Amino acid sequence: MQGPPYRPLDAQVIPRFAGIRTFMRAPHVTNLDGVDAAAYGIPFDTGTSYRTGSRFGPEAIRSASALLRPYHPVHEVNVVDALSIVDYGDLPVSPGDIERTYAQVEDTLTPIVDAGVFPLAMGGDHSVTLPELRVLARRHGPLALVQLDAHADTWDSYFGQKYFHGTTFKRAVEEGLLDPAASVQAGMRGPVYAADDLEVSRQLGFTVLQSEELRALGPEAYARLVRGRVGERAVFLSFDVDFLDPAFAPGTGTPEIAGFSTAEAVAFLRALRGINLAGCDVVEVSPPYDGPGQPTALAAANVLWELLALRALRP
Ligand code: MN
Ligand code: MN
Repeated sequence: MQGPPYRPLDAQVIPRFAGIRTFMRAPHVTNLDGVDAAAYGIPFDTGTSYRTGSRFGPEAIRSASALLRPYHPVHEVNVVDALSIVDYGDLPVSPGDIERTYAQVEDTLTPIVDAGVFPLAMGGDHSVTLPELRVLARRHGPLALVQLDAHADTWDSYFGQKYFHGTTFKRAVEEGLLDPAASVQAGMRGPVYAADDLEVSRQLGFTVLQSEELRALGPEAYARLVRGRVGERAVFLSFDVDFLDPAFAPGTGTPEIAGFSTAEAVAFLRALRGINLAGCDVVEVSPPYDGPGQPTALAAANVLWELLALRALRP
């Protein structure tokens, strides 16, 4: 029986609390031969507007991910039999210099995507998604965005800066990286600066579901709506951990109350089975603000595992 060449440590040999921390205890490998999915960190938080700290996101997510197991009992798929998974390590970044970091991320992510490897990013703040989209759009053309986030991140600028974590998806549309008509932003809530804040997203062409609308839809109706928009297009799923309520995920840069529980988030993700997932990230995990037991990092690790399972259903 020939399984995938790379797989996580066997928990019956080396217990889950032991060993060097990589994502899901997968081997740290940078040679892409025989790799189906690569987890990697982008430890960058210069794009934040409020609390920093997400530069420590990847290490916290890796640590929490030691608890993950291979089999998904709802999707009925063994993630590590279906996919040869590695931890590629962290991409190089330049603290304080967002455009230089974007160039570094593009340079180092390109060979991963060119090799047909499924990229699974651990942020970092939400500014890191832009260079990921640049690389993936070069391979797939304009992508369908499925964003779960308390914020739409479609402002034009902030403190005179065009690039920061609140402008990512406006820049992505301007650069032709996304097909807004095929994209759905969901979970938006909390006070905004002006009445037209979410109108900007709609004018860009995105479908926007505020948290009240998303909650009223529920997972199955949400997934039907998403499938209707994305069709067979290559999807980029971007999960900002502030989609979760701060009671469940306090460790984040810009928390908003009245958010979703981890159980609700998992249900929304599981309902998306069948979409053509080309890449994904989980961003805005800020460990210095996390609570006892690191619930935010644990939630982020499990969201990544849910995304791997979606990919494993359709490798
Ligand atoms: Mn965001
Ligand atoms: Mn957010």
